[in-house]
Amino acid sequence: MKVTYRNSTQLFLSPCHCMSCGKVFIVPRLRFSKRESGHVKTMFCFNCKCDQDFIETKNGTQFEFEYWKQYIEHQKQKKAVAS
Ligand SMILES: [Zn+2]
Repeated sequence: MKVTYRNSTQLFLSPCHCMSCGKVFIVPRLRFSKRESGHVKTMFCFNCKCDQDFIETKNGTQFEFEYWKQYIEHQKQKKAVAS
């Protein structure tokens, strides 16, 4: 999905999935900061009322909750080993 303003600023709308409650928030992004599908970010979930891990996917990408849950666990383990 693409939004173009009159000043030709392009915003892309990325769905971000809360890994705790599964709620999806649509986050607008500027073109140059657009990320690949599967980017993990921590932000405030209005449903959980606290910070949660979110998975950002591209529009049209099927969201596999279990897959991403394992993905996040894997990332955390890697970080734990590295530090
Ligand atoms: Zn949540």
